[in-house]
Amino acid sequence: MRKMSAPEFDVIVVGASFAGLAVARRLRGKVLLLDRNEVGELQTSACGTPLWVAQALGVTSSVLQVHERLTIRTGRHAVSYDLSAVPFCTFDYRAFCQGLLAQCEARFLKTAVTELKDGRVVTSDGSFRAPIIVDCSGWRGVLVNGAAGVRPAGGAYTFGLEAHTPVRDDGLTFFIDREVIPRGLGWIFPVGAGSLIGLGSYAGRSKLRPALDRYLDDQRIQPGAYHGTYFPNRPGRATVGRLFVVGDAAGQCLPLTAEGIRPALYFGGECGGLVHRIISGAMTLEAGLARYRALVRRYRKAYWLLWSGQWLTLHAPMAWLTALTRLAARRPLHPQWWPRYGQFGRVEATASPG
Ligand SMILES: Cc1cc2nc3c(=O)[nH]c(=O)nc-3n(C[C@H](O)[C@H](O)[C@H](O)COP(=O)(O)OP(=O)(O)OC[C@H]3O[C@@H](n4cnc5c(N)ncnc54)[C@H](O)[C@@H]3O)c2cc1C
Repeated sequence: MRKMSAPEFDVIVVGASFAGLAVARRLRGKVLLLDRNEVGELQTSACGTPLWVAQALGVTSSVLQVHERLTIRTGRHAVSYDLSAVPFCTFDYRAFCQGLLAQCEARFLKTAVTELKDGRVVTSDGSFRAPIIVDCSGWRGVLVNGAAGVRPAGGAYTFGLEAHTPVRDDGLTFFIDREVIPRGLGWIFPVGAGSLIGLGSYAGRSKLRPALDRYLDDQRIQPGAYHGTYFPNRPGRATVGRLFVVGDAAGQCLPLTAEGIRPALYFGGECGGLVHRIISGAMTLEAGLARYRALVRRYRKAYWLLWSGQWLTLHAPMAWLTALTRLAARRPLHPQWWPRYGQFGRVEATASPG
């Protein structure tokens, strides 16, 4: 095992996925970026996000397929949404993350982080110290939740499992079918050469493999590799002491739609901008922490709205859900809510490195 002394850094970022890379690409100086995996090695997500996100971040070459249509199926009913005002895409996780890493000046170290102790980030390769520490370690929040970690109980975490399949299709599909998944939803996300087909349990039920296999078998679809994990559906703490917390570690994944990539990139970019100002002496750490907390607080209402939609998906009769999904696809509602939802995070994500 490599043993390292304890060098000083300006910033330590824990986690080098969406949130961590979005923070790190805004920083210059002595930045240490830590992850237990190589960057882009371990995909947990279907990697669907608005196309403008990949374009604004300069990683368009990672895009696998562009989607201008979303179908929502409630039982036997299907409603089609026109996404052309803000098209979505599915992208290659490794290419997306490697593209962001290439924009970072940080020093990357592959190592497992265990805790924050006496102000030092403890890893399997020694411990490191910096005045600013950012926890971007995903739903477990290795620093923010301490060595004890979190228990994904009580409905605050959704569990998602998906399989690579050879299904080729146009557009994205979500389906709500309580016989397939009683307290959640399913999705089909085409990724060029095939589709990722998955189930998500809002109740956090992690044993989804039998239900997913049954669904694929019924549709005569041959599954390839599976991946999945938990992701939060409720906001958590954005700062703890002098720690910034970003992405799933801060519960920033959107409820209902389970979109966690865009919030991780957005809040990560904003947090990185603030940290950059702290390092350069333009702002105190305390002011930076307060500004970041205030920014996250501004979105409380939006999260609450989406959480209400998630609650309805769980509890409303199917006939209501069908009526609601139809209403949301029609004028004048659809041209109002879709661009607003699809543009969330736009200005800030375009911010260039440094
Ligand atoms: C099946 C599934 C499908 C999904 N599909 C979509 C989708 O299509 N679109 C979308 O927007 N969202 C989707 N999500 C949600 C999305 O994946 C997450 O919200 C998003 O990945 C959060 O980004 P993050 O950077 O905060 O955390 P993560 O992507 O989880 O990254 C955390 C990083 O921290 C590292 N890490 C963790 N612990 C340690 C440790 N102890 N030491 C060192 N490193 C550590 C990990 O290796 C990882 O690289 C999906 C989730 C699942 C489970």
